[in-house]
Amino acid sequence: MCKGKIVIALGGNALQAFGSPPTAECQLEVVRKTCDFIAQIVANDYEIALVHGNGPQVGRIVLALETAKEVTPPLPLDVCDAMSQGYIGYHLQQAMHEALIRIQKGHIPVVTIVTQMVVERDDPAFKTPTKPIGPFYSEEEAKTIAKEKGYVMKEDAGRGWRRVVASPIPNHIVEIDSIKRLWDSTIVVFAGGGGIPVIEHEDGSFEGVSAVIDKDYAAELLAEQVGVDTLLILTEVEKVAINYNKPDQKNLDILTVEEAERYIAEGHFAPGSMLPKVQAAVKFAKSGEDRKAIITSLFKAVDALEGKTGTLITRSKGQ
Ligand code: ADP
Ligand code: MG
Repeated sequence: MCKGKIVIALGGNALQAFGSPPTAECQLEVVRKTCDFIAQIVANDYEIALVHGNGPQVGRIVLALETAKEVTPPLPLDVCDAMSQGYIGYHLQQAMHEALIRIQKGHIPVVTIVTQMVVERDDPAFKTPTKPIGPFYSEEEAKTIAKEKGYVMKEDAGRGWRRVVASPIPNHIVEIDSIKRLWDSTIVVFAGGGGIPVIEHEDGSFEGVSAVIDKDYAAELLAEQVGVDTLLILTEVEKVAINYNKPDQKNLDILTVEEAERYIAEGHFAPGSMLPKVQAAVKFAKSGEDRKAIITSLFKAVDALEGKTGTLITRSKGQ
């Protein structure tokens, strides 16, 4: 009776209350509310997997370890990424289980897979790191850190200096077979924070690298490789807009791949926020017949799946 298979990408607002102190308890509270919405999708007989972001969480782990460096050695970014997958996955497992009990589906197991994502060693992103992470420093501190650790440090929008890392394109998911085997029985939390970026050596071994993969691209790759019908990207806004935040803003109900590509070229979607979502949606819609992507808010997810709201990205209008 499965109505369809969905990969759900959860944005920052699904994991953290804006403005509240970022304690673990506070995160769990928000995740509980999020899981109530996700459980409604399960109640409507869809099969799902969850991908989530980790920006604030991994930032805090890095900051905590930097602050404690006199007593315990800092850990590399790939290890911090793995820690954030465990931390967020644990909350999602617990909250999702409770939400499933409330809809009489407490028997469905929920599990997190620590996920590695292979990136190309010569991805151009490594030459121009763009993604700021961790604490702010003064210019002087930043220069010392750059010299001592070889980090790339940049000034971040007048707020101070931060470490910046590359945001490469994910090529291959190391644990893809495991999620395929679990799909029919289990709700899997997968590729948290976009997955832990690794490079593959010639002998087939993997090595973690200091980079951050966009979770929207990671969710897209998962959706393509598992072969689901729908990529559902849940964020803060109910619909994608053109002329966003301008007097002539127009919210879009449906967006064909061609239109999306034109609007991307015209610069309607902000890099680092809406652009990766639209790009991921387009790539997925192009990847097979009857594949569609929906971008909407967490609160409107159920309605959007019924075609009542959200922005639908398809190959053609009639699809
Ligand atoms: P997430 O944590 O879900 O990835 P982001 O902040 O990265 O969220 O991206 C979603 C945000 O993108 C929206 O809250 C909105 O402010 C912004 N945005 C930028 N361009 C657009 C657009 N053209 N249409 C709608 N939202 C846009
Ligand atoms: Mg984002």
